[in-house]
Amino acid sequence: MINEKAYALGANRSCIRDLFEYGCQRAAIVGRENVYDYSLGNPSIPSPKEVNQAICDIISDTDSLAIHGYTSAIGDLACREAIANDLNARYEACVQPSELFIGCGAAPELCAVFKALAVPGAEILAIAPYFPEYKPFAEEAGCAFRVVPPDVPGFQIKLDAVEQMLTPNTAAIIINSPNNPAGTVYTRQTLEDLAKLLTRKGEEFGHPIYIVADEPYRELCYDGVQAPFIPLIYPNTVVCYSYSKSLSLPGERIGYIYVPAQAQDSKALYAAIAGAARAGGHVCAPSLLQKVIARCAHLRPDLDAYERNRKTLMEGLTAMGYEMAKPDGAFYLFIKAPGGDAVAFSNKAKEKDLLVVPGDGFGCPGYFRICYCVSYDQIVKSLPVFKALLD
Ligand code: PLP
Repeated sequence: MINEKAYALGANRSCIRDLFEYGCQRAAIVGRENVYDYSLGNPSIPSPKEVNQAICDIISDTDSLAIHGYTSAIGDLACREAIANDLNARYEACVQPSELFIGCGAAPELCAVFKALAVPGAEILAIAPYFPEYKPFAEEAGCAFRVVPPDVPGFQIKLDAVEQMLTPNTAAIIINSPNNPAGTVYTRQTLEDLAKLLTRKGEEFGHPIYIVADEPYRELCYDGVQAPFIPLIYPNTVVCYSYSKSLSLPGERIGYIYVPAQAQDSKALYAAIAGAARAGGHVCAPSLLQKVIARCAHLRPDLDAYERNRKTLMEGLTAMGYEMAKPDGAFYLFIKAPGGDAVAFSNKAKEKDLLVVPGDGFGCPGYFRICYCVSYDQIVKSLPVFKALLD
């Protein structure tokens, strides 16, 4: 007896993974340098050297039982203190270590939060374009997953559409800014308007509508743009943060959940998140990485390489006639598919060993995504291929 839903999720790879695997196969035949793979968001800048140094120092200075033992399920106090100090210094917030739960990256953190909110009939809203894994995460937690249509062409938030979709069953809305796949950073105005709407509807329904802020890209912003810290705009916010992208540590699995004391029912919500994580098999986040974050929570990524890739691609593609909203953050461009059919465009590009992901899986057909966390060389070499496709 095998769970059919789980089987379907495991047996059918995502379109992104399919493209990535295809790229690996082609690389074995034609050479890695001849495959222009823009499919997967694996950071291409190294972790700050302080991170690697901290790993070496901790391993040589600390006794191995202390490094490799279980920690408290909610995370080491030193790690939570370092994160709270960093957030308070950056945002003039008043985060307490007791409001933080150290998790294994944004993905399992989101699953725990959705599960904690999954009362019978609960609905979770996402805003297109959205990270495709939200759907299985929400549904597996027992929530209905509903998608707010995209606000084209700027990819902010269509508030009238959100308002129409809010029901007494709405438990939360997911906000991902900077956004995967659009690269958009939601403006303070957009977030303040959303906060007003959610406050008004929450009062009408007699329960809070939480924002679940999925923030793996918070520090990846360009041209002086800053992603606002959402709990300071709307207290009923639960932050799911990850060091996967900001410190280029996606394989190490470390991040945190922040449940502000100002959020309604915050203590119960925190306990429910801890309980949901426990039921999902969470024991503790990797002990070594917690010790690293205790020393490195204040570090920021060096974005020079992403900036250069972004500028060269954006300028090159725009000059050719490709249309896109200017992305202020993350490492993605979300581009209008010439001819309007992104799947057809992606297939055509694949024939030239150029791998781009159609927007259909992100709830936004007609666009394709480019992940520009790749080598600069790939970008330069791929521009003529983009041009040939347009011609
Ligand atoms: N949320 C978004 C928007 C992402 O793009 C990703 C990964 O690419 C995740 C969550 C999951 O990140 P993590 O590695 O922290 O689980």
